[in-house]
Amino acid sequence: MADPAAGEAKDAWDAVLERLDDAAKLTGIDPDIHRKLRIPKRVLEVAVPVRMDDGHLEVFTGWRVHHDTTRGPGKGGIRFHPGVNAREVSALAAGMTLKTAVAGLPFGGAKGGVRCDPRALSLGELERLTRRYTVEIAPLLGPDLDIPAPDVNTDGRVMAWLLDTLSMLKGTDVATSVTGKPLSVGGTKGHSGATSTGVLVCARAAFKELGLDLVGGRAVVQGFGKVGGPLAFLLASAGMRVVAISDVDGATYNQGGLDPAALADHVAAAGTVAGFDGGDVIKPDEIWEVPAELCVPAALAGALDVGVAGRLAARVVVEAANGPTTPDADHVLEDRGIHVVPDILANAGGVTASYFEWAQSRQGMQWEEDVLAARLRRSMEVASVDVWARAAQLEVSLRRAAFAVAVERVAAAIAARGIFP
Ligand code: NAD
Repeated sequence: MADPAAGEAKDAWDAVLERLDDAAKLTGIDPDIHRKLRIPKRVLEVAVPVRMDDGHLEVFTGWRVHHDTTRGPGKGGIRFHPGVNAREVSALAAGMTLKTAVAGLPFGGAKGGVRCDPRALSLGELERLTRRYTVEIAPLLGPDLDIPAPDVNTDGRVMAWLLDTLSMLKGTDVATSVTGKPLSVGGTKGHSGATSTGVLVCARAAFKELGLDLVGGRAVVQGFGKVGGPLAFLLASAGMRVVAISDVDGATYNQGGLDPAALADHVAAAGTVAGFDGGDVIKPDEIWEVPAELCVPAALAGALDVGVAGRLAARVVVEAANGPTTPDADHVLEDRGIHVVPDILANAGGVTASYFEWAQSRQGMQWEEDVLAARLRRSMEVASVDVWARAAQLEVSLRRAAFAVAVERVAAAIAARGIFP
């Protein structure tokens, strides 16, 4: 990938490279393998022409990136967002390579995105965009090649359109090529809350390690979407007080603890947490200063920058979002003694549930819900123990330890397979 123009601010891909380079140094992996991991395996950019409801043609740009597929087929979500670009999708794909390695899943790293504002699209436009994007990236997709899933602004409905389009193209049902599907077409019951469940497992582990009480502790959450929404319920059920929640349009605060069910009802009606009468109005940017034990960024990359890191009032950050903390902010948080459970561990519950869904689709059978829940919890606990142990052994932050674990596992796979030809 081309380097950014001189003088440009660091972006998500720069952040991945910085952390990858650090992990390579920390673990002493083969420099040839390190060099290989610094460049995505393939970056496909596609034009996505869509006939809009008023009759004119809009041409969107989309991407599908495979970062590394040595440990298995590419796995990663698809996001629809106005800010998506090739470097961000590549960074997210690299994150999936590392995340699947930390979680011990037999996948490589992939990600997709379309630069669009889904909130400005009608349902019909959204479906046509999804179907055309699917056709354009179809050569890269398949159960043993690359298996997409939902991400920011995409959901089970979008996955069902993707599955249907791909099945029409191939002339055969390809349920094994997509995860995060609706239950009616082979989805799994635990999928929607899996990422949040994994975040809670990581928060519990961190609180235990640090001697903090989860019950009665205060939490702030940025984002009330597919991850932040269920997470607020899980944190409250675990005995925490969720004192502040923000989304793209506003934020709400209640020192006594927000009622997640009432807030979900409000969001279902109003489309935002703003205006919730069970809390006071604060600005979205003010949630960082709300005194709390736990902070969970569950929105977009780069939210926790140096400025936010300097005034963050929480003691533990568990990264539900991908790439929410910038590398410079990492240093500030470390200096301030704030522990960060990194994204490649903290939000791995989603891809773990995707792995279960993929396995079930291949087997043609549904696992029982309690089996799924127990396997998910166990898998996240094992990954968490691995990272905490490596952090203690290397005497480094959890982020550096998680990258070290991941890079070693990927490097071992590349070394075992060798470089073709
Ligand atoms: P989503 O689109 O369902 O929700 C995103 C939420 O973030 C919304 O509430 C939105 O209003 C809010 N948001 C956006 N910009 C904001 C801003 N500037 N300030 C405050 N809030 C803002 O997306 P999601 O699936 O919940 O994903 C959230 C994050 O978690 C992303 O980084 C995603 O990559 C990551 N993630 C998601 C999953 C998953 O299972 N969905 C798995 C792993 C990681």
